[in-house]
Parts: sequence; structure tokens; C-alpha cells
Amino acid sequence: MNYIIHYDICALVLTVLLSFCFFYKKYIPNLQNRSFLALLYMVMATTIVDLLDVYGTTFPERVPTYYLYITSYLFFFFLNVLPAAYAFYIVALTGTEWRLTRLTTALPFFIPLVTLVVILAGNPIFNWLFYYDSAMGYHRGPALYVLYFCAFYYLAFGLYSLYRDRDMVRPAKRAALFSFVPLVAIPSLIQIFIPTLLIEMLGASICMMLTLMTIQNPDELLNGQTGLFNRRAFLQESRHAYHQGKGFYVIAARLLKYDYLVRTFGDEQVTAILREIAGELRQLPVRHKQLFYLKDGIFTITMPENEIYLTLPEKVLSIVEGSSRENQMELTLSSRIHVIRCPDDADSVDSLVDYITYASNSDKGKTKEKGIVYVSSEFRNVHARVLAVERAVERALATNGFEVYYQPIFSVKENRVNSAEALLRLRDPELGFIPPDEFIPITEKSGKIIEIGMFVFRTVCQFIAKNDLKKIGIDYIEINLSVEQCMQHKLADQLLRTIDEFHLPTSCINLEITETAVAYSTEILETNMNTLAETGIKFSLDDYGTGYSNMASMVHLPFNLVKIDKGIVSSLEDERVFIAISSTIAMFREMRMGIVAEGVETYEQVEVLSALGCDYLQGYFYSRPVCATEFLEKCIELRDHPELIHPDPMAMDHGLLAVTAAH
Ligand code: C2E
Ligand code: CA
Ligand code: CA
Repeated sequence: MNYIIHYDICALVLTVLLSFCFFYKKYIPNLQNRSFLALLYMVMATTIVDLLDVYGTTFPERVPTYYLYITSYLFFFFLNVLPAAYAFYIVALTGTEWRLTRLTTALPFFIPLVTLVVILAGNPIFNWLFYYDSAMGYHRGPALYVLYFCAFYYLAFGLYSLYRDRDMVRPAKRAALFSFVPLVAIPSLIQIFIPTLLIEMLGASICMMLTLMTIQNPDELLNGQTGLFNRRAFLQESRHAYHQGKGFYVIAARLLKYDYLVRTFGDEQVTAILREIAGELRQLPVRHKQLFYLKDGIFTITMPENEIYLTLPEKVLSIVEGSSRENQMELTLSSRIHVIRCPDDADSVDSLVDYITYASNSDKGKTKEKGIVYVSSEFRNVHARVLAVERAVERALATNGFEVYYQPIFSVKENRVNSAEALLRLRDPELGFIPPDEFIPITEKSGKIIEIGMFVFRTVCQFIAKNDLKKIGIDYIEINLSVEQCMQHKLADQLLRTIDEFHLPTSCINLEITETAVAYSTEILETNMNTLAETGIKFSLDDYGTGYSNMASMVHLPFNLVKIDKGIVSSLEDERVFIAISSTIAMFREMRMGIVAEGVETYEQVEVLSALGCDYLQGYFYSRPVCATEFLEKCIELRDHPELIHPDPMAMDHGLLAVTAAH
């Protein structure tokens, strides 16, 4: 027979090149990569054996008889195992190799493989597959078709696994994997019917090349900043660990004030710190594949229950906190270590991740020793709560369940309530009252905040349009904007259109933007603010003193007012806070910005803050946030009886009047 071997030679060259490429790029020895490499070697070996076999059958007189037998056996062996290896690669790619430990998947996977081995082993006696006659002529046996059937069976097995666990593979990769199928199937079919045309292996090796180019990206699981495994890898590992069903520990180390560090020292310096921490963590007796860097200063270590040792969390703590030494920064890093026992403390990957991202911010209810927090199992419900709140928000959006409350703001100079802040309220039929501090961050993460923010803005506009607020002394209403809203290109447009729709003057709206949002300041925020400011809308810098203000970016933005956070107001008795706040107020006054003090609860605070030069006061001392009707009633009452504003008997004579007269 005249075999056409050119395609096989091409296939051989291609697989050799591919293995060079594979090693050139640093790859992680995980199951997916190892099974890819095994598959690549198998394609290469099959091609070599195929060529040797063809040589033997073309020139039987030049080779000994056993040569023909050996090459034929090897060829059949590889050709059988190759499709099975392909199916296994898909299983590894979807990260579901644990399925093969279960009988329902293991049997369909291994039975055909065993059958093939039996056929191969029985061939010398029964000639099931092939035999050479006395003239060394080659003959096919009936089991050859079983063999081809098995090859297609494994191809189908791989595709079915891919379909079943499709969620574990990104859509683009999935599409790539499906589209490679004809590349293997068509040449194989052709070769069944034209056995001299050896194109099967070329199809397979082109398929390997495309896989390497599109699916096998060795960098995908690595974090560029630290060289450790990334969040994706962490999710994969954890999923695997949960499926195995054995207990394991996750040690999560969070570098505190990460945002502040980035803003103050810049990305480069912070990356240097992270690298140093990563380098030192690698020195620990922890395997490389157990170390991860998620993002925003969070490192994790995953360890089987039987490998964890008592002093590990402490060592991690000292590494993370001690790593400023070589950076010559006058800076002490602080960190928080959480020790999470899975599945006891977090019963699924989702709750583990939620725990690490949300709950590790607060230490309430956990056993804490020297910066190390041992999570108790109560916290496994964090994830359930997040989901419940998300559902409550959806319900509220669908059924008009949100309500906007108003909290009066007192003007010291005018000695009257002159404005108010709009605050959102959510009362769910199932969960009851949900504080905005809880649901706002969740909606920010899910993206729902955009819709909610527009709802608040519309509701307030409608409220202003319906009521003659000027008549009751209210000049403007302050509305909170979240970071996500500020990052929307169309924000300014949408807000202005709504104001127009209700025929309102822009002067009746004041937008509050938190310090944190300003810290993330981008061009979009700046453009939005400038567009709105040009039309006459005013801005307040909210929660001053809670974040880490970046003066440089703040002074560029058109803020008219600054709101001093209630945390600072409540610690005014502390002498150092007092000194800090006095000079801050003086500074803002010089910058010609109005100053609002939030969280004013006592008359002493009213006195002190007024004396320090605050222009506006807001807090429970004047009123809690109340619903629209109650707010209107309250404003009318205070307009008609201004003496009720400061019911303190001493207020009218010495304190406040003297203070207000002073500036
Ligand atoms: P914030 O903007 O700092 O709002 C002031 C918070 O302080 C309100 O909490 C208010 O009820 C509370 N407060 C007022 N006076 C006092 C006082 O004298 N003492 C104390 N301890 N607290 C006082 P609230 O309504 O629970 O809102 C919490 C946060 O949720 C707000 O903080 C704001 O960041 C966010 N939020 C509320 N409504 C909205 C909204 O419509 N949009 C956005 N993006 N965020 C909102
Ligand atoms: Ca606010
Ligand atoms: Ca505030």
C-alpha cells in the first residue's frame, strides 16, 4: 500500500514545536496542565509510532517480524488511550475530576478503556484486531470497529462532560472546545475510509495547537503583582476541596488600609510591599499551590485539616505586618488574619468568598487573639443573609417598597432649619427593617444601586415639585450619590433631565459624595461634577474624616460644603480630636467651604461645634430622619415656633446666641 505520510510528518513537527512553546511559558503543575501535556505527548508518540508502523508495512523485508507487531500494538494502544485522555483533559478543565471517584461516572469512563485493553491483550491469540499472514500481509480484524466506536465514544464523553459542567468553563473557551471537535472527527472519519491517507494525527495536533493558543493560558491562574496564584485559582482549589468533602482551613490575611496605602504611596510601592510579603509567605512550610493573592491586599492560604499547625496564623501575621522594613517606608503595616474552618464556618465556596470579602471587615462575635480572628460557625450564614437582602431589594424595587426619609439640617447663621438630607429606608415584609448601611453596599456590588439611586433622585424631585418647600423654609435637599453612580458616563445627563422634567431650579438640589468616592476619583467623576456644577447644582463632601482624604484630588472638585462625620463629632471630648477638628474647620473656612457637622446629639455638641465655626448642624438633637409627611409638619411647626429648635432652657440666653454672634 502506498501511504501518504506528509501529513504525519507535519503533525510531528507541530507537536514538537508545541511542547517547546508549552515549556517556554511558565506553567503551573495543576491537573489541567499536566493532562494537557500528557495529551500532547500522546499525540506526538502516536504520530511517531504511526510513521514507524507505516515504514514497517511498506518495507516488510527490511524489518524483523516482531517490529511490525510491536509498532502495530503500540499504534493501537495509543490510538485507544488518546480519546480517553482527551475526555480526561475536559474533566480536568472543568475541575470535576472528583466525579471519577463516583461509580456513576467512573464506570462509563473506565469500562470502554478496559474493554480495549482486553481486545489488545487477546489479539495475539484471537486476531480480533489485526494479523499478518505468512507473507507478512496485514489484515484488519472485526474488533477494529469496536476500537473506532470507542474513540468516538470518548469524544462524546468529553463533550458531554463539557456540556454538563459548562458553568465551570468560560463561554469563549467552551465555544473554542466545541468548534475543535470537527477538526478531530472529520480527519479520523476520512482515514477510516481511506486508510492510506494519514491525516488523523494532523487533525489532532492542529487541535492541540488551537487549544494551547486559546484555552491553555498558563498565566491565567497567576497574579501578576505577586506571582502567587490568583482569585480564580483560589476558587478552583476551594471548589475542589469542598467536593472532596474533607475538612480544610483557609487563613485569610488582609492588609488593612489597602486603599490608603495605594493612594499615599502609589501602585509601584504597594506592589513592592505585596511582592515582599508574597516572597516571605513562600518561605513558610506551605506548598506553592496553597498560597493565593486574591486582590486589594488579601492573601489566602488553603490547608488540609491534617496539615495545619497552631503557629501558622501567627507567622502569617508577623510576615504581613513586618514587611515594610526593606521598603524604607516610615510606615507600620497592620493586618487582620482570619482563620476559617471549612466547611464548619463556611459551608460553600460562595459563603467562603463572601466571608472573606464582606465579613472579615468586622470582628463582631468572633474569638480574637492578637490580631488573629478565629471565625465561629455562626458566620456561615453571612452568605445566606446577603442573598436574602438582595432578594428584599429586588422585591422593594418591584413593589415600590423603598421610602425616602428626610432629616432636617439646622443653619447656625440663620438660626433655623434650612435644608434636609434624603435618606433611603427599606422595610421588607420578611426581613423587617434593613439599615441602609447593610443594603447599600450590597446593591453597590450587584449594580442595583444605579436604579435605586435614580429612584431616590426622582422621588426627591417629585417631593420638591409637589410641595412649596421655600414657604416652609427649606432651601435645598441633599441627596446621596454612591461611587458607582458617580462613575456612570450618563449620570449628569440623567439627573439634569429629571430636574427638567419636574421644572425645578437646580439650586434646590445638593448632591453628597463621600470622601471614599473622591478617593477613587476618575475623569468621569470630575466631568460629571463639573457639568452639574455649571448648571448650579451644589456639592457636599460627605463623611469627612472617615476615609483618607486626598486633598489634591478634592480641591480640584467643585465642592461647596463639607460634612464632618458623626464619628468625629461623637469623640469631640477627646482633646486631640478637638484640636484636629478645630484646625480642619479653620482650613475649610479659609477655602470658603461651608461646614456641616453630622451626628449632633447633645446640646453641648451644638455649642462647641457652633463656636468652632460650623455653619450647619444635623443630627438626632434636631430630629431623626422622618417620612415626608412628618417632615413637612415638623418644618411648619419649627417655622412657626422657632423657640422649639433649641428646647434647652439655657439655649436662648447665653450659649447659642453668644456663639452665633461670634461669627
Ligand atoms: P450618611 O450619608 O452619613 O447619612 C447620615 C447617617 O447618619 C444616616 O444613617 C442618619 O440616620 C444618621 N444620623 C443622623 N443623625 C444622627 C445622630 O445624631 N446620631 C447618629 N448616631 N446617627 C445619625 P442612615 O439613614 O442609616 O444611613 C446610613 C448611610 O447609608 C448613609 O450615611 C449613606 O451613606 C447611606 N445612604 C442612605 N440613603 C442613601 C441613598 O439614598 N443613596 C446612597 N447612595 N446612600 C444612602
Ligand atoms: Ca450623606
Ligand atoms: Ca455622612
